[in-house]
Amino acid sequence: MADYPNVLLHIAGEWRGAADGRTIDVLNPANEEVVGTVAHASKADLDAALAAAERGFATWRKVPAFERGKLMRKAADLLRSRADTIARYMTLEQGKPLPEAKMEVLAGADTIDWFAEETRRAYGQIIPARAPNVYQLAIKEPVGPVAAFTPWNFPINQVVRKLSAALSTGCSIIVKAPEETPASPAEMIRCFLDAGVPGDVISLVYGVPSEISGYLIPHPTIRKVTFTGSTPVGKLLAGLAGQHMKRVTMELGGHSPVMVFDDADVEAAAKIMATSKFRNAGQVCVSPTRFLVQEKVYDRFVATFVEQTKKVKVGNGLEEGVTMGPMANDRRVPVMETLVADARQKGAEIVTGGNRIGNKGYFFEPTVIAGATTDMRAMNEEPFGPVALMTPFKEFDDVVAEANRLPYGLASYAFTSSNRTAQALASSVEVGMMTINHLGLALPEVPFGGVRDSGYGTEGGSEATEAYLITKFVTQAGV
Ligand code: NAD
Repeated sequence: MADYPNVLLHIAGEWRGAADGRTIDVLNPANEEVVGTVAHASKADLDAALAAAERGFATWRKVPAFERGKLMRKAADLLRSRADTIARYMTLEQGKPLPEAKMEVLAGADTIDWFAEETRRAYGQIIPARAPNVYQLAIKEPVGPVAAFTPWNFPINQVVRKLSAALSTGCSIIVKAPEETPASPAEMIRCFLDAGVPGDVISLVYGVPSEISGYLIPHPTIRKVTFTGSTPVGKLLAGLAGQHMKRVTMELGGHSPVMVFDDADVEAAAKIMATSKFRNAGQVCVSPTRFLVQEKVYDRFVATFVEQTKKVKVGNGLEEGVTMGPMANDRRVPVMETLVADARQKGAEIVTGGNRIGNKGYFFEPTVIAGATTDMRAMNEEPFGPVALMTPFKEFDDVVAEANRLPYGLASYAFTSSNRTAQALASSVEVGMMTINHLGLALPEVPFGGVRDSGYGTEGGSEATEAYLITKFVTQAGV
């Protein structure tokens, strides 16, 4: 396909193929056609990227914060000006509807702007001394070269948060972006380079994820590891980072509970949640998944949710009016089929959906499963697809127990008109994020992250840069 690029590595200020010339095919998940290729890094490429990261760190940490911010804002403007082209690449490689892809690109620019401002706020402290004429300073310094591993569900968003935080604080970075969706993150990185960020500061590689993480994480050049992906892989990488004493941020899986109380605006809740559930075909770590609805309003909530679900238009994301694309890769489809079959066999009702659509492209029907019980696999494993599970509850304590039953603790959603219930939920549900009576997650200026098996660290808000900074203590007596 002529309008999709063959994606290269970016190492030492140069866009180049792999040292040994290897490439990986990139597929369009809507029709399974090869749209292009991506360069497959070898060890020699990784060594070159590590050497660049070392040099890049030495250069970039000395660029004044004010200047770093200016370059980053310029990158954000370039990204906005290229949003149409980049969004199209994203839809071709990932499948999401074009308007969603464009929104992601533009939101990426907002994220860069936020972190560009944060450059000027890496404040330290002056600590009162015990003796006169002594100055005690806690100074913030960049941690060093970063290795970032990002997944395919939000090809730009997952990179931009890590990249911007690293650049904001004066770190260099090696990004291992997703092989399935390589062009949109590459074009986003090009905006930084075109804005004037020195070439050694940002490296971009693709290849075999386990080989790259296995090589970069233990390498002495790398001082910080950041990963978004599944909990099992996150545990593996955090373990490796721990062995080598590297700083870590982990943004992992979730199984978000949605708690709908009988005093809520039930129709509004069902409409908001149905839209949110099928965004990006449910391949979202904060996707609402377990819909826990108080008995009195359960039937009404399910009926409205199903009505909304039937309005979702599934198709090729480049077509006008499509609101849900295919799943991003072939391995997700059998996972959905297995989870649905297991739920059906254990007594759930598949109210709508439940099947693959067609035999070309990785399309799956928006699916609503009612009467879901805790023995079903889908109630325990992150579906990471367009599957909503409905379960009634009786009392406040029951819903909190169910919300906290799984080891995940990423996002949660609640709907109630009682301020008391809202506050009690906020203090009892073990999660990193809760949004009550509206959708308010994932803005650049608010914290984003999980607890327990969903990981640690935050990728948004004023805390996000902390993960890329170290504190150095300096005490000086006047002479
Ligand atoms: P997976 O576990 O194979 O991979 C998840 C991500 O981690 C991918 O981007 C992959 O390239 C990367 N990865 C895998 N092994 C790695 C390694 N050893 N080193 C470095 N990176 C590695 O699963 P998948 O089939 O790609 O995706 C499905 C599952 O992944 C879902 O169930 C979901 O839990 C999780 N996931 C989560 C997010 C998120 O936003 N938190 C995004 C994508 C996938």
